[in-house]
Amino acid sequence: MPTVLWFRRDLRLHDNPALTAAANSGPVCPLFVLDPHVWEPAGAVRKAYLLESLKALNANLDGGLIVRVGDPTVIVPEVARAADAKAVHVAADYGHYGRTRDTNVAQVLAAAGINWVATGSPYAIAPGRVTKADGSAYRVYTPFYRAWVNHGWRAPAADPATAPQWFAPLAGDPWPQTPDLMGITLPPAGEQAALDRWDAFRHSGLAEYEERRNRPDLAGTSVLGHHLKWGEIHPRTILAELGDDLGSETFRKEIAWREFYADVTDRHPLSSRVSLDQRFDTAIDWNSGAEAEDAFQAWALGRTGFPFVDAGMRQLRAEGWMHNRVRMVVASFLVKDLHLPWQRGANEFMRWLRDGDIASNSHGWQWTAGCGTDASPYHRIFNPISQGERFDPDGDYVRRYVPELAHLPGKSAHTPWLQAEGYRHGYPQPMVDHAEERRDALDRFARAKASVSDS
Ligand SMILES: Cc1cc2nc3c(=O)[nH]c(=O)nc-3n(C[C@H](O)[C@H](O)[C@H](O)COP(=O)(O)OP(=O)(O)OC[C@H]3O[C@@H](n4cnc5c(N)ncnc54)[C@H](O)[C@@H]3O)c2cc1C
Repeated sequence: MPTVLWFRRDLRLHDNPALTAAANSGPVCPLFVLDPHVWEPAGAVRKAYLLESLKALNANLDGGLIVRVGDPTVIVPEVARAADAKAVHVAADYGHYGRTRDTNVAQVLAAAGINWVATGSPYAIAPGRVTKADGSAYRVYTPFYRAWVNHGWRAPAADPATAPQWFAPLAGDPWPQTPDLMGITLPPAGEQAALDRWDAFRHSGLAEYEERRNRPDLAGTSVLGHHLKWGEIHPRTILAELGDDLGSETFRKEIAWREFYADVTDRHPLSSRVSLDQRFDTAIDWNSGAEAEDAFQAWALGRTGFPFVDAGMRQLRAEGWMHNRVRMVVASFLVKDLHLPWQRGANEFMRWLRDGDIASNSHGWQWTAGCGTDASPYHRIFNPISQGERFDPDGDYVRRYVPELAHLPGKSAHTPWLQAEGYRHGYPQPMVDHAEERRDALDRFARAKASVSDS
């Protein structure tokens, strides 16, 4: 019986339960829909990466992938009818928009007598499955992590019993042009690139991950984010190869953050746009107006005068990626030093990050702002100078991304104001006094919390 396999965030052929289910029931028509609702607002980096990933998938399908542009509620049934399919197979989508879209597509298909079959998800454990004993959801990561490990996950999915028979009953649409990446070079995309990256990290990075993962000056993390985002590799494939050593244990915990944020977003779909504690959005006295806009631009362009923050924001624009430690520091700076809402920063990240993922990004920002999951300690405020000195101890990261400071040796790159020649190459002075803004932020958050508890 012919089927359609609608690829979304699962752009791989191995360890793909939806593919196995489709192929075991007959010839498979592979489809990807470029949905303008998702495509149009995406930044150039994510668009370009997705196109590269689709190219790689298409090559693995010997050019048989049908890529169509338009509304999935129209296109998926149209392709299913052309394929004479009795079922459309997918991996479940747990995003806010994806869920509604899937319900709508499934309804249209049902009216045409075509089954909707969802098998698997982009996560080791599907959102909603890890619960407290009373069935309610976790809002704090550490107990979630324990329950997630106790719940356990399936082994990687078996390949289909026989090699899938791919077929394309109709032609696809012309692919969109790759957007201008303004000098950013993307890493190789696709399933093989993802497996190679994981293999390389497993053999040469995992053992030292615990020690090196907080050091943006070193290549200490896996850089698998974009591969996971598009399902070029499934977290289950990774988890199956982790051991009991410290590096593996720490890496498992990082994979679990991704699962935790997907779970929280599944239960609170609006939390990808508004604070999990929504009252904070209106209760905090955020800066606004022309000065706030200038401050935002200085932050976005990496011209705050704080070397570690500026290096991070410039890495983002140079590579479409930023190290996790620096993501936390630049996010804290925007929210706590410049008093701007986390959503502004989250949008900027989504514009540039190649691993931009709505759940991990929105909740990474809320964790830093103190209005999301975790015990939400809003008084956690990163010191942009001491963070730099601690996690970039020789100043290499700052010098790599901030050429105006490249002449300053060692850790002195973090404190140009203390160096005789610190401003020789036009680096800006610090735009704020961190100690003062820290006090101001604590006041604003305390006032907001008080007004929220009163209401
Ligand atoms: C403000 C902010 C915004 C963020 N935005 C995103 C985003 O849009 N997309 C994204 O994938 N991650 C995001 N993160 C989490 C984290 O920074 C990235 O996953 C990580 O830097 C990616 O690099 P890596 O693959 O080398 O990570 P590694 O350290 O090698 O971790 C392996 C994988 O674990 C997952 N992971 C690790 N840390 C986290 C975390 N804190 N939250 C969720 N998943 C995690 C990722 O899938 C990552 O690829 C954000 C963090 C912050 C503080």
